[in-house]
Amino acid sequence: MKPITIIGSGMAGYTVAREFRKLDKTTPLLIITGDDGGFYAKPMLSNAFAQNKQAAQLVSQNATQMAEQINATILQHTSVSQIDSVNKTLSTSAGEFGYEKLVIAVGAQPIRLPIAGNAASKVFSVNNVTDYAQLRDGINSISSHGEKTRITILGAGLIGCEFADDLAGAGHLITLVDPNSLPLAALAPKPISLALQNALEQRGIQMKLGTTASSIDVDQENSQGFQVTLANGEVHPADLVLSAVGLRADLRLAQAAKLDTERGILVDTTGMTSAKDIYALGDCAQYTNPEDGSRPVLPYIAPIMTAARAIARSLTGEITQIELKPAPVIVKTPSCPIALIAPAPHIAQQGHWEHEQNAGVNICRFYDTDNAMKGFAITPQDAKLRSALLAEMAAAPGIVAEISSKAA
Ligand SMILES: Cc1cc2nc3c(=O)[nH]c(=O)nc-3n(C[C@H](O)[C@H](O)[C@H](O)COP(=O)(O)OP(=O)(O)OC[C@H]3O[C@@H](n4cnc5c(N)ncnc54)[C@H](O)[C@@H]3O)c2cc1C
Repeated sequence: MKPITIIGSGMAGYTVAREFRKLDKTTPLLIITGDDGGFYAKPMLSNAFAQNKQAAQLVSQNATQMAEQINATILQHTSVSQIDSVNKTLSTSAGEFGYEKLVIAVGAQPIRLPIAGNAASKVFSVNNVTDYAQLRDGINSISSHGEKTRITILGAGLIGCEFADDLAGAGHLITLVDPNSLPLAALAPKPISLALQNALEQRGIQMKLGTTASSIDVDQENSQGFQVTLANGEVHPADLVLSAVGLRADLRLAQAAKLDTERGILVDTTGMTSAKDIYALGDCAQYTNPEDGSRPVLPYIAPIMTAARAIARSLTGEITQIELKPAPVIVKTPSCPIALIAPAPHIAQQGHWEHEQNAGVNICRFYDTDNAMKGFAITPQDAKLRSALLAEMAAAPGIVAEISSKAA
């Protein structure tokens, strides 16, 4: 019997596997992954420096433990290079494998900005625990000289702001660069972005907004350091540069297999791709919202959980629709804790935000042209307020926050 096969051991791959095992204890399950198959919660990566966590401390279970827990075969460090959807086979660095049904959960790749300069290739980005370990090593090798590390972060979106706050909390000197005039500009309304900017500046983070890095060069006077030249002409020194300008769904396997793709691998309301018996979810997928037919890319944990439950059931033969529900995104900036549901792009163009300030809490609600609430943003955020605002929105269901690759 050919196995149910999952490509990828991130949150998406492992959650489908766990959900499938709740329904089916015996059908062979094969997980093929390019990494070591350790399980970790990726959101912790932008919150772990201030807690001085080693990369190994973030991994809660290794591949052997995962294989035992979900009764699966896990092929570590094995890259899938081709999917043959007609003959139901996979070409991999460990040979060819047949599958019964396939789940693609290959995630996304960091966007690389076209930056000039002889040190442009030295820029770090963090999208997995190995990247985190490398960034830690990079910082430690500089900090071991006994000075604070000057870190320039490119991108003041969700991930850039989280890293800025976290690395500042770990005692580093942070400069945050973004072409927008405010942080979190693609997701949050102005009052929330302003509150975040103030909080980050009070934390000692230098904001360079309305500009981008045009080149990164080795510092002539300090070969360990860099000179970052901004598009506005400013030049400033850095010991390390971290890019957080966003992620792009990894479409390479899907496109080579001629599956339908746009900004992600297109899936229908059940998570199935344009090829029979091949599903996709997580950062590589572009979902179909059954409520309004919109096609959101949802690179967050909550949609993975929902999609994984439905896909697992479909893998057992009971075809099940993914019920995408609005779920707040928590921005993990302890200096200014934010929760938000951004309106879907096709609605965001036409509606408007309303802002109220109540006992030091900023509350913004987004209304569409019919005056139905389709999003909110709050700071400081807490669970009670989030629930109250979700209840307010419940009168206008079917809205799913979307983050574009630029906004990550
Ligand atoms: C720093 C950071 C903080 C975040 N914080 C939050 C947060 O607070 N809340 C939230 O909701 N979301 C957050 N996110 C987003 C969330 O973590 C992701 O949406 C989620 O982890 C994506 O999981 P995934 O399994 O789709 O992809 P990944 O975790 O990227 O997994 C992809 C897997 O596919 C494997 N793979 C890829 N190509 C191949 C191949 N050809 N062959 C074999 N294997 C392959 C990889 O090795 C890997 O195992 C954050 C993301 C980052 C980067």
